[in-house]
Amino acid sequence: MSAQIIDGKAFAADLRTRIAGEVARLRAATGRAPGLAVVLVGEDPASSVYVRSKGKATIAAGMLSFEHRLPADVSQDTLLALVARLNADPTVDGILVQLPLPRGLDESAIITAIDPDKDVDGFHPVNAGRLATGLPGFVPCTPLGCVMLLKSVLGDLSGKDAVVIGRSNIVGKPMAQLLIAESCTVTVAHSRTRDLKAVVARADIVVAAVGRAQMVRADWIKPGATVIDVGINRTEAGLVGDVDFADVAGVAGAITPVPGGVGPMTIAVLLRNTVVSAARRDGFAVDL
Ligand code: NAD
Repeated sequence: MSAQIIDGKAFAADLRTRIAGEVARLRAATGRAPGLAVVLVGEDPASSVYVRSKGKATIAAGMLSFEHRLPADVSQDTLLALVARLNADPTVDGILVQLPLPRGLDESAIITAIDPDKDVDGFHPVNAGRLATGLPGFVPCTPLGCVMLLKSVLGDLSGKDAVVIGRSNIVGKPMAQLLIAESCTVTVAHSRTRDLKAVVARADIVVAAVGRAQMVRADWIKPGATVIDVGINRTEAGLVGDVDFADVAGVAGAITPVPGGVGPMTIAVLLRNTVVSAARRDGFAVDL
């Protein structure tokens, strides 16, 4: 058997087209474009690349991009003052502080200072609580992108056995919450899980978000299962996921590649969240 390859790149491109359409509709109705502010502290090369791509994608969708670059030795108070300014700025619908922050800055205090209704990354504890209790809020972009891909392949997820490997606040935990909301039976596995292979073997849906190259092997996978690989690992052989793609593709029913699977979804969903934020603030409904 050979798995369906889930083309995240194509799905994300389609989502970005639909986003641009909704942006045009919003602009026509309200006379303003949604705005996304991205704050980059320091010069981490990977973060710089992400911030540049986010800015380009924001502009390509017809939205406003506000980039704020601060030196690595900026004080906590200066950063908090910038966040307060962005919270109060009516042209800003989404605020994203690129993580990780340099040493000496209190990441949790900065995230908590963002207005939860502009927290398009969905990392604020208020948004984590809203997700857990089924209230409208913002959901972290990567797991929301994973659910979109899963639904594009499987349709209704109700009753499926899902295993999420990883319990981070950014991916694993919100992923588990989203799958519960889709009425899956969810198991969250992590570094202390015993017999991970047996746990994964039960799953109709496997989401790997660990950060260990090609850890998930073909003999862990139930034949026909859908496998979503969130991992991004830089190896001598290039970029690889947490799943041993070549072998697992022979057993799974559908699988995301790395690159070209989950990765492209993250920025597309960030734009989506920003448009949703603008629409909510202007009392509009968007279909995204
Ligand atoms: P993290 O380091 O915060 O969390 C990793 C999780 O894996 C932890 O909960 C840990 O318990 C678990 N884990 C570690 N070793 C394990 C083991 N041997 N068995 C089972 N579980 C184990 O990482 P994160 O931020 O959640 O990211 C996970 C991966 O996803 C990374 O490779 C990251 O680069 C990638 N990522 C990709 C995107 C994207 O846009 N595609 C976005 C965010 C993260």
